[in-house]
Amino acid sequence: MAAERIRRAQCLRAVQESEYPDNFEVNEGPAAELADPTHVLARPYIATICLTDIKIATGHFERAELPRVLGHEGGVDIVVVGEKANELRAEHGLAPLEEGQRAAMDPNVVCLRPECPYCRRGHTNFCPTMYGIGVSSDGLFQEQLSIPALQLDILPNGVAHLAPFQELLACVLHGYKKISVRPGDKVIILGSGMSALCQLMLVRRHRPSMIVVTDLVQERLARAAALGATHAVLFDVEQSKEAQFDALWQTAEGADVVIEATGAKQSIELALMGRERDGEWRMLIRRGGQILLFGIEGSELEGLNQEIWYLHGAAPQASFIYNRDDFFEAQRLLVDLADELPPFLSPPHPLTTEGVREAFRTAKAGTFVGRTAIAPQQAD
Ligand SMILES: [Zn+2]
Ligand SMILES: [Zn+2]
Repeated sequence: MAAERIRRAQCLRAVQESEYPDNFEVNEGPAAELADPTHVLARPYIATICLTDIKIATGHFERAELPRVLGHEGGVDIVVVGEKANELRAEHGLAPLEEGQRAAMDPNVVCLRPECPYCRRGHTNFCPTMYGIGVSSDGLFQEQLSIPALQLDILPNGVAHLAPFQELLACVLHGYKKISVRPGDKVIILGSGMSALCQLMLVRRHRPSMIVVTDLVQERLARAAALGATHAVLFDVEQSKEAQFDALWQTAEGADVVIEATGAKQSIELALMGRERDGEWRMLIRRGGQILLFGIEGSELEGLNQEIWYLHGAAPQASFIYNRDDFFEAQRLLVDLADELPPFLSPPHPLTTEGVREAFRTAKAGTFVGRTAIAPQQAD
């Protein structure tokens, strides 16, 4: 096996818009071998591109060192199980792995030591030793790699092609657990991109009376309606957040829950702002309602008055990635949503320089709502 060579897509360096995605290149390198007896040797069969990958490639994500094989959302075929892999999995209550199985990969590797104050309490998303496969170590856009056995979740029949969504659903689930939607509630979801639509698919399970979605693009709203949104509010790019507030207020005065799922500055401000209506300060939520900040862009916010939050008893909840438990729990969602997720996965691009560049081009264009896929075993 040592002499074998494999194809891998490297992001060579961070570039400006004009050079993107020419900074991706498929070349050959030595095949990965088992890095540790607690690892498995795996062959990725599908992997998708997310915003993080695009940020790395364009120099907006400092933690990644280039060149790097990206790819942190996807599924793998298990080729070799390390000698100590299943022993370790048993200690953590995980089923043994076998050669030939397919598994979804949790890219976030954490310490899981009892001395770690975060891991001990299940808050693995804050583990100080956390690193991301496909970000801080080489990821899934290659033919073969060594993966710590604890990162894999065996996939049941029928959902293997949807493996990349397990990580996204874990993020969505983690956020969703911070709020509670009850039957009869009015829910506003700001945005109707992939994350927003996944939030919508969770929200509708609790039979709210109203689910309002917003977007700047009409077709996206139509897709949200097909998935169960009861009302759609089309925003204009030029519109002020005050005008957007009024439009939402007309549709869903005093919502029980607001989920911000775009990460855009104005949208976050809209979720948190107060506005005088009929002589009283109001937020989009009623008093005692809940706000979930799910999208991240990292901008500084303006025009917020925290006294209004006190009046509404509304400290916003923020959601940072997910915990290990969320990842394993998300497989249930993957199974439940198996009929609805396929349109959100692009046809797979082959692992060739042109194939990978084309995939990254499509992903950045943002015209396709969903994930752009690469099939690492496919060469043409
Ligand atoms: Zn991602
Ligand atoms: Zn830890």
